[in-house]
Amino acid sequence: MATSEELFSRAQRHIPGGVNSPVRAFKGLDQAPVFIERAKGAYLFDVEGKRYIDYVGSWGPMITGHADDDVLSAVRDRLDNGLSFGTPTAIETDMADLICEIMPSMDMVRMVNSGTEATMSAIRLARGFTGRDKIVKFEGNYHGHVDSLLVKAGSGALTHGEPSSPGVPASLAEHTITLGYNDSDGVRDFFAAEGDQVAAIIVEPVAGNMNCIPPAPGFLETLREVCDAHGSVLILDEVMTGFRVALGGAQAHYGVTPDLTCLGKIVGGGMPVGAFGGKRHIMEYISPLGPVYQAGTLAGNPLAMAAGITLLNKIRTPGFHDELTQRVNTLCDGLEARARAAGIPLITQRAGGMFGIFFTTATDVSDFDAATHCNVEAFRQFFTGMLARGIYMAPSNYEAGFMSSAHSEQDLQDTLDAAEHVFAEMTS
Ligand code: PMP
Repeated sequence: MATSEELFSRAQRHIPGGVNSPVRAFKGLDQAPVFIERAKGAYLFDVEGKRYIDYVGSWGPMITGHADDDVLSAVRDRLDNGLSFGTPTAIETDMADLICEIMPSMDMVRMVNSGTEATMSAIRLARGFTGRDKIVKFEGNYHGHVDSLLVKAGSGALTHGEPSSPGVPASLAEHTITLGYNDSDGVRDFFAAEGDQVAAIIVEPVAGNMNCIPPAPGFLETLREVCDAHGSVLILDEVMTGFRVALGGAQAHYGVTPDLTCLGKIVGGGMPVGAFGGKRHIMEYISPLGPVYQAGTLAGNPLAMAAGITLLNKIRTPGFHDELTQRVNTLCDGLEARARAAGIPLITQRAGGMFGIFFTTATDVSDFDAATHCNVEAFRQFFTGMLARGIYMAPSNYEAGFMSSAHSEQDLQDTLDAAEHVFAEMTS
């Protein structure tokens, strides 16, 4: 039986870094990534048979736990009919109806294959609809590896963006403006100067790619306000928050109505799915109704739709998200109490079924700068200690944690017991 370490060294021969998505490589953690063989409920099982209580949930989709019996049987039921037809299917309409019912800001929706495709398409649509090139994003927000969105702030106030990855043309990045997350004044100032040239604001309504940072009171409302005042499109990237922060996503939780919404993760039930949608008069700009081109050979794949629809219907049960939030509170309150007892500076931040753990003396973390000033070494010790004790936390201090309804009270207590041991080791 090969170990994870052996599999990782074999993987690196033909796969860059041994992984098909960078964060899986456990870079900077002095530890080979764990190779997983199977998963069920709250648990991952690695190739050596070790069990982990999992708080990553395939980075979000597994909100009812891994290998959900209902999701699997919905996929199995469709399997023998064929994998893909490249034609319209009734189940795509079922999915569109369901999404638009759960998220009433969406009159129309188009399915794609990933969150990246959703944000890429929404940006193109917003530019096509407004006839403008500039887009505004926020520091520390991630929207997939879209060229226009792999952009960091230029130096100085009100300067235009610079590529954050080689391969992104500077001539494209200059159309992206990166502002401070939760900085409503910065947004107002920028829009006062250049708002009439802005096609869209795209934002993570809870930032989940710099740990977990909820929106400050008034921040999302400010975005809505400046978009209305300047004819710009407000895009909420709910790839992570959709169906997780609340059934209706962050837009329901915080009461802000976007023009366009991007979805991914839960909407596909663990299959490769994304979606973007919103107001009818904007969505009608999409081909074949309108001039903005967007397409996909496998988009709306029937097996993926079956998985996603089944999962969405399951989590519509009244009280589902309240219970999920309760589990997050039990875990986060427990971690804070145990860290405090051990004398370790730690805070948590939460939004529905997602949470963040920050090793910091600060009382809250509300922007990218604060997120980058947490104690990386403490996180590394915590992560590796928890992993050794069979608890799989996100392998980066910039990633949010995800709870599932499969996490039992015992799982949470076991996690807190493990944390108590790890905190004791960290201070010894
Ligand atoms: N937007 C957000 C908010 C995300 O968290 C992610 C991925 N974690 C994406 C977009 C990109 O989604 P995908 O990885 O499916 O392309």
